[in-house]
Amino acid sequence: MTEGIAKNLFPSSGIISERRLTKSVERACQAFDEKNLRFTKLRREVFEEIAATHNSVGAYDVLARLAEKGTRLAPISVYRAIDALLEVGVIHRLESKNAYFACRRLDHTPGSRPIVLSCEKCNAVAEVESEGIFETIDRVSKGASFEPRVRFVEVLGTCRNCASKKD
Ligand SMILES: [Zn+2]
Ligand SMILES: [Zn+2]
Repeated sequence: MTEGIAKNLFPSSGIISERRLTKSVERACQAFDEKNLRFTKLRREVFEEIAATHNSVGAYDVLARLAEKGTRLAPISVYRAIDALLEVGVIHRLESKNAYFACRRLDHTPGSRPIVLSCEKCNAVAEVESEGIFETIDRVSKGASFEPRVRFVEVLGTCRNCASKKD
């Protein structure tokens, strides 16, 4: 990986530009089309809240942000929308935080599994790819007669922005 790509993974502003957000909404819409599923208004609204930031977002944050905008929903509606977004693969669930983030690598190789880098200080999230680590997990698991179910690997740490900040 080049230094240029590494830099872009953690932009200094956690906010996604309007243009990028529009683009990721378009891609999400396409992903739903490809699976013959409907990208309903609610699914789109929930996706926009999650995709509007580089950080991971909890279901209750989504609920609160939509309420601020005048859309009051029952938690179950938000969870159902989140389930649909997860199924199509446009968002991922961060197990360690029970939070969600928009997939930033929709144009990557289909079926490849990401390594998720998650900053413990600012909650920024980035995805990188390395099949090697999954091959190792599969191999050592099978050696232990264990069937692994690993969709991605989470790595907790400190992003470049937080590392450069003085406390
Ligand atoms: Zn992804
Ligand atoms: Zn950070």
